[in-house]
Amino acid sequence: MLKGIHFLLTYACNYTCEHCFLYCSPNAKGTFTLAQIKEVLGESKKIGTVEWIFWEGGEAFLFYPIMLEGMKIAKDMEFKNGIVTNSYWATSTEDAEIWLKPIAEIGISDFSVSDDTFHFEDEAENLAKFARKAADNLKLSSHSITIEEPTIKTGIDKDQEKGEPVIGGGAMFRGRAVENLIEGLPKRSWKEMIKCPYEDLDGLGRIHVDPFGNAHICQGLSIGNFWEKPLSELIKDYKPEDHPICGPLIRGGPAQLVKEYEIDHEEEYVDECHLCYLARLSLIDKFPNYLAPRQVYGLD
Ligand code: SF4
Ligand code: SF4
Repeated sequence: MLKGIHFLLTYACNYTCEHCFLYCSPNAKGTFTLAQIKEVLGESKKIGTVEWIFWEGGEAFLFYPIMLEGMKIAKDMEFKNGIVTNSYWATSTEDAEIWLKPIAEIGISDFSVSDDTFHFEDEAENLAKFARKAADNLKLSSHSITIEEPTIKTGIDKDQEKGEPVIGGGAMFRGRAVENLIEGLPKRSWKEMIKCPYEDLDGLGRIHVDPFGNAHICQGLSIGNFWEKPLSELIKDYKPEDHPICGPLIRGGPAQLVKEYEIDHEEEYVDECHLCYLARLSLIDKFPNYLAPRQVYGLD
């Protein structure tokens, strides 16, 4: 039951974080136009179950007037709005209030701010505190998203036995994180990776939509292209078990994906997403409509 549509308003970002799932950077291509936003909002209404519209990226504030207009239209259509931002624009509390006032006037139900050492290595440069203080002053409900450097700890993880090393920090091993963050981390046998730990591949609780028409169920894993087939129909016709990537993932996690397509692989991976991401990367030319866009796999 699809509740949330998350606009990847743009793939462009003023940062180039090591852990970015989507390979965002100042040079990343792809930004929604207002006409495209209206089209997606209209289709979202037709779906009938969508309550939330989120504005994300990349960094959505880089296209502030378009984000604001999109929020107004979404509000008029009786959706709840949410924003995720890295708060680069919050250079002081007073200035951040100027940015947030028009948003407060429209009304917003969720305001999430990245606040961690990946985004701000030096605490003195941490602008999230200004963004959150300004949000408090304007009575906007805000919260932080924190992702730290992966750390190794011994403890209990829900899927592992007591005493096994587990990885803390909240980073997920997809996209640029696979290139930058896995060195030195403990690994597990690929055969254990029999379940997708994070995404609702069956139920489609939320999807991320991008300007190229991809409807992502996980970053770079699309259920189809909504510029080719209307979004409401894509959702209605989605049959998880028939999807060439989601099907195997549902049947037996990333390990099943590797088995069904006889993908060459290592014996051990950091986690399920690490194996899944690399398996998908090796299938990208076979399923270009479902594994897209190539840029979120670090390819041109
Ligand atoms: S993680 Fe967020 S802030 Fe960092 S590059 Fe990606 S979109 Fe930008
Ligand atoms: S296992 Fe694959 S589909 Fe599931 S969350 Fe990880 S990368 Fe996404």
